[in-house]
Amino acid sequence: MKTLFEKIYDGEIPADIVHRDEICCAFRDISPQAPTHILVTPRKAIPRIGEATPADQEILGHLLLTAGKIARDLGLAETGFRTVINHGPHGGETVPHLHVHLLGGRQLTWPPG
Ligand code: 5GP
Repeated sequence: MKTLFEKIYDGEIPADIVHRDEICCAFRDISPQAPTHILVTPRKAIPRIGEATPADQEILGHLLLTAGKIARDLGLAETGFRTVINHGPHGGETVPHLHVHLLGGRQLTWPPG
């Protein structure tokens, strides 16, 4: 069965896609927690970061490099931004398909809630 994000890649669920390549796809979060909130997701349906394997090294590196590029392209790099990966219930994960949150456009606080 397809994950929610696989359905977005395949156009079965609409999304505001900001980047797409052979390894990943990035689109705006449906419930943004900052003025800019993008999800960078691998096409391979790795469920969550703690279940990635050494075979996924290129994918994981690509996700972070792509998040950085999108942040630069959207003008977030100068003021700053945050990348977040949630794993499991305590991490706040709600969609079991690995994704990097890219958040920016306002002052973010620390520690996170
Ligand atoms: P998580 O909570 O798993 O770290 O992040 C899942 C994210 O997916 C949430 O921020 C949520 O708002 C977002 N999301 C859930 N359903 C959809 C959807 O159908 N479209 C988009 N663009 N984002 C979604």
